[in-house]
Amino acid sequence: MSGDGKPKFVIIGGGPGGSLMACYLGKAGYAVEVYELREDLRGGNIPGGKSINLALSHRGIVALERVGVINEVMKMSVPMPGRMIHGRDGSLAFQPYGRDDSQAIHSVSRGDLNGLLLAAADKYPNVSLFFNAKCTGVDLDACTATVIDTVSGEWRTVSGDVLVSADGAFSGIRRAMQRLNRFDFSQTYLNHGYKELTIPAADGGGFRIEKNALHIWPRGAFMMIALPNEDGSFTVTIFWPFEGANSFESIKTPADVDRFFGEQFADAVAHMPTLATDYFENETGSLVTMRSAPWYYKDKVVLLGDACHAVVPFYGQGMNAAFEDALVLDECLASSPGDLGRAFFEYDRIRREHVNVLADLAISNFVEMRDHTGSKRFLLRKKKEKLLNKLFPHWYLPLYTMATFTRIPYGEAVSRARRQDLIVNVVAGVLFLIVVGAVVGWFI
Ligand SMILES: Cc1cc2nc3c(=O)[nH]c(=O)nc-3n(C[C@H](O)[C@H](O)[C@H](O)COP(=O)(O)OP(=O)(O)OC[C@H]3O[C@@H](n4cnc5c(N)ncnc54)[C@H](O)[C@@H]3O)c2cc1C
Repeated sequence: MSGDGKPKFVIIGGGPGGSLMACYLGKAGYAVEVYELREDLRGGNIPGGKSINLALSHRGIVALERVGVINEVMKMSVPMPGRMIHGRDGSLAFQPYGRDDSQAIHSVSRGDLNGLLLAAADKYPNVSLFFNAKCTGVDLDACTATVIDTVSGEWRTVSGDVLVSADGAFSGIRRAMQRLNRFDFSQTYLNHGYKELTIPAADGGGFRIEKNALHIWPRGAFMMIALPNEDGSFTVTIFWPFEGANSFESIKTPADVDRFFGEQFADAVAHMPTLATDYFENETGSLVTMRSAPWYYKDKVVLLGDACHAVVPFYGQGMNAAFEDALVLDECLASSPGDLGRAFFEYDRIRREHVNVLADLAISNFVEMRDHTGSKRFLLRKKKEKLLNKLFPHWYLPLYTMATFTRIPYGEAVSRARRQDLIVNVVAGVLFLIVVGAVVGWFI
């Protein structure tokens, strides 16, 4: 306990989820220590100097609002009110995400956002941050963690009343929990991996392709996307199978890169002068879906973000969900004062089933993005959804809108979308029968 009798929280992992949680706990007056493996990101000190961006949407925005940083975050983000679909022939089609430009997702640099949250947490005198601090083991019952300073090599045991595991998809704390009786865990990799590439800013700092859009090159079994950065560049990501005739494995030389990208993404290649170098220098990442249960151990350990639920990135919700976890955990702590076990139980009860639904949604959206976004059928469905939403704004909300622009829990959003579609299909069927009946009646 800290001097005022409040429990002390030790957060392992100072990524987006851990640093936002530190802000919430700091604001609530708890003593907090954050141990982060990497060096301090603040001041633009981004590992490898690479700008990797993420789409921030409503759930994340609300969570950031509550700790007073949203205005700063918005200043460093680029709004994307829709997708720009790039055909093989270089054709372009803009598809708005929502009713109007106010329903936009926001491209933000992961490193800059993380740095901003660390700086915000550090403003609380009761929050201490430690960098180059690698957690190598935990004692769940004693609530202690072994931490090595990766610069000096010194190690120490840190202790608190609660360990918060915010150490990402390969969390060491969750691994320790996997040895507990009746702890559920599963993980599945996609056959596709991803590689980050770049479209640099134009001379003078302008954008070489449309600034305010999430660009997609849908190509059936694979796709490429690009998100804008504030400095005029785009972070480009290709999602492609690891193995097979047409895959990462099949590319061996710069000439292979030029041939494949030239055939598939000619309009983008024209803006990618460092394509072959980027391709061979940047690692190929894998895409994992990971589920675990429960997300806590007694009143001593609680999991957050990718540490308990890694989802593939195709709904743009992983970080947003981690932020919403922090918000919900903060609410649960506030509504169960002095009873950490109850707070963690409630947090797990409120969140887990819905984030499991998000995991499925994210996988199915991969098929939609790479296979359907360029198709006429997809466009027709989007038009129908838009029209229904316009006609019945309080009753009909497209699933994407509910997941991205509201805080309706993911599971409820999916059930509501199914109900809406059922009603629309029944009404359409009845109207069709009435019309057919009228036409037949007219002729006989
Ligand atoms: C290609 C791709 C694109 C994505 N795009 C989006 C998007 O557009 N929108 C979105 O919302 N989400 C997106 N995501 C998901 C998002 O990146 C994650 O969900 C988010 O980063 C999770 O945050 P986190 O803090 O829980 O975990 P992490 O970001 O993994 O952070 C964990 C932190 O813990 C630290 N750590 C790890 N091990 C230790 C240790 N032993 N000791 C101390 N510290 C440790 C790490 O250094 C890291 O800082 C994307 C993911 C990928 C792979």
